[in-house]
Amino acid sequence: MAQWEDNVRHVTPYTPGEQPRIPDIIKLNTNENPYPPSPAVAENLRAMDIDALRLYPDPAAGELTEAVAAHFGVEKDRVFVGVGSDDCLAMSFLAFFNSGRPVLFADITYSFYDVWAGLFGIPFETVPLADDFTLRPEDYFRENGGIIIASPNAPTGLLPGTDAIRQILEHNPGVVVIVDEAYIDFGGESVAGLTEEYENLLVVQTFSKSRSLAGMRIGCAVGSRKLIKYLSDVKYSFNSYTMNLPSICAGAAAIADEAYFEETRKKIIATRERSKQELRALGFTFPDSQANFIFASHPEVPARELFAALRQAGIIVRYFDKPRIDNYLRITVGTDAQMDALIAFLRKFLAERKEKKL
Ligand code: PMP
Repeated sequence: MAQWEDNVRHVTPYTPGEQPRIPDIIKLNTNENPYPPSPAVAENLRAMDIDALRLYPDPAAGELTEAVAAHFGVEKDRVFVGVGSDDCLAMSFLAFFNSGRPVLFADITYSFYDVWAGLFGIPFETVPLADDFTLRPEDYFRENGGIIIASPNAPTGLLPGTDAIRQILEHNPGVVVIVDEAYIDFGGESVAGLTEEYENLLVVQTFSKSRSLAGMRIGCAVGSRKLIKYLSDVKYSFNSYTMNLPSICAGAAAIADEAYFEETRKKIIATRERSKQELRALGFTFPDSQANFIFASHPEVPARELFAALRQAGIIVRYFDKPRIDNYLRITVGTDAQMDALIAFLRKFLAERKEKKL
């Protein structure tokens, strides 16, 4: 190693799911929405003043912040927006996890949490989920430097439930508790309302999943006035202009279109429930996902083998080569047609494999 490399901040980065540019693949690997964004997004983008791109955008992203505040029924000083929820979460780690005591999160959860902790030098401890991947609130009743919980959890899809989150809040008034609700619109009840009661609760959501805007990079957080002020102070110490003008226009339009949101999220939920039945009929087992993905395992065929076979057939899902979950596939819920293609392939593959083994 060159001498200057001793001064480099060495980090192990997060590995995002691949974005292959292969035509005609069925892409079920990064939990994107299979439906386009609300038509109101295109309208707002078309109406956008291109000349305004000369100027820096509104540092407070006012139009977007106000639309998010209206959606949650809170004042705009209780809302923070960022470049995807990843940005909101990273800024929150930096702002709120600064005690020297370990931050707690599940052993099986969004794998960016330990990366941010590593980047910012935040000590952390992972808390094992039960064998069935459920979260035990009592495991969080101990000294810590902050807590982050994904609800529903990724990649399992399981909801901890409002009662479990409330218990964790009751036992942890001295630290910030972050609830990452990236997938909440696919079957759970948001705990955003609890931010009225708990000053130390931050709820983070994204426009990447239920609002079909992964390409725009928009996330938001709701919390007490105090929490949002501290979070904004960190953001303004890092980058004043996080939200670009097209993202502000697109996001504001998307969150205001409740009817389209309801229609598409209900379609995804219906497809998920049907897909669960079909997968179950093929012998798969999985936690009862309330998200837009299914975390499935087959008792006879290793997930790694299924992953490779699906890929060969042009169907891309996500496989995590990690302890406890290396025999699962995380399958994003696509359109009905995409899921039909997936199920048809799996049915054929499993039948042919069985025949070969006989
Ligand atoms: N939280 C969880 C649990 C996720 O799975 C993701 C998606 N990778 C994110 C946050 C971040 O999503 P985004 O930055 O697109 O809002």
